[in-house]
Amino acid sequence: MTDSTKLTLVEARKELDTKKISAVELTDAYIANIKKDNADIHAYLEVFEDAKEQAQKADERIAQGETLPLLGIPLAIKDNILIQGRTVSGASKILENYRATYDATVTTKLKEQGVVFLGRTNMDEFAMGSSTETSAFGITKNPRDRLRVPGGSSGGSAAAVAGEMALAGLGSDTGGSIRQPAALCGVVGLKPTYGSVSRHGLMAMGSSLDVIGPLTKTVDDAEVLFTVLRGQDRMDSTTIPDDRKPIAKKETYTIGVPRAFLASGVDADVLQEFEKGLAILTKQGHRVIDITLPTIKYSLAAYYIIMPAEVSANLARFDGVRYGFHKDGVDRIDDYRQSRGAGFGKEVRRRIFLGTYVLSSGYYDAYYGKAMQARDRIRKDMLTAFQEVDAIATPTTPSPAFKFGEKTSDPLAMYLEDIFTVSANIVGIPALSVPCGTVTREQSTLPIGFQLMAPDLGEATLFALGNILTKNIL
Ligand code: GLN
Repeated sequence: MTDSTKLTLVEARKELDTKKISAVELTDAYIANIKKDNADIHAYLEVFEDAKEQAQKADERIAQGETLPLLGIPLAIKDNILIQGRTVSGASKILENYRATYDATVTTKLKEQGVVFLGRTNMDEFAMGSSTETSAFGITKNPRDRLRVPGGSSGGSAAAVAGEMALAGLGSDTGGSIRQPAALCGVVGLKPTYGSVSRHGLMAMGSSLDVIGPLTKTVDDAEVLFTVLRGQDRMDSTTIPDDRKPIAKKETYTIGVPRAFLASGVDADVLQEFEKGLAILTKQGHRVIDITLPTIKYSLAAYYIIMPAEVSANLARFDGVRYGFHKDGVDRIDDYRQSRGAGFGKEVRRRIFLGTYVLSSGYYDAYYGKAMQARDRIRKDMLTAFQEVDAIATPTTPSPAFKFGEKTSDPLAMYLEDIFTVSANIVGIPALSVPCGTVTREQSTLPIGFQLMAPDLGEATLFALGNILTKNIL
């Protein structure tokens, strides 16, 4: 029998529906891989003990003739998405023993589908980071090279999929946290249009930037998951009304490349693989042109003002009283100080400081106000470009997976990881990272990600182009 963990989601669906394989068998195969590798890779913070029972229930539904896209599909869930009754920590000490009191909207949808929740995956604390090294519960290793980071913040879900410890995973993306780990681990990652997937039950980081999305083996698998997850939700007033029409698929596409933006700071080998990707698109009959995005270079600076500003407000709720970890101080205010000081890690505290500063009176206009003006300009620039092109292409990251500790002492070097990904969040548009070639570093073969961005609700464009790339790459 073939190894069922090699199946894509689309293939597994067929095998399940034709009873060639059961959900229990599929789940068992993934659990066997988890038992073999998770102790070292540490993709999961917790593997759910009832995974097999969930699979049995899925098999019963299949036996009754039910068929749904995700029925019986084993998934890995990032540890910032709520599943009622289960621990959810955001990889933070402050929520170490916190149990979710309700289901996230995406969880409800997945439960209706009858998925198998395999476990909750490691991440950077409260999704702040690009390497999963800021987790309060230890690092996650990249299955492609265990001396290197899996990327972040959804590094656990990316490593679970890349390491064949889940058929697919969920992540969240505020500035690249789905796409960057997908790129570094060699899997597909989709950041959907802002508001197309409900944020209800996702721990808030930057509320105007956050979105939940899939990490998968293939582009088609990402489409299946996205189709289930998307939709208006009365629990999240920023979700897009269901009657807004998505952009339809086309025969041929025009893809814009912001050359000037790629001119410096990108690893030469990464750039070479990116060029090969562009050549595939041209060869398949699409038009690749150079474009200018004069303000895109301000995205990273704007992001690292807007995001911490929102972080500082969103994380104010963790006061040691209402949730999780508590440390006694000499009075109530000191309780807060002690609990937050000991409960939050260094990177989270850094961002709370930064955010509080840029929002404080006297600095608000100079920093937050300016960043919001820049955000407007960047969006206008992008929309202008999209009058001429259907999609914009860049590498997902400036370099391949780096080694543990390489960037932890220099926050700016870590933040530069996000240079190509943050623009999509700043603007709200969808973006996809697909594996596109490899580079060699110290005898290891490391995957490279190719990023495509499309206008709002342009996911179909991304899936079409992502498929062309992944199916034609040598
Ligand atoms: N790496 C980025 C950051 O540290 C993005 C995080 C995210 O998307 N959650 O903020």
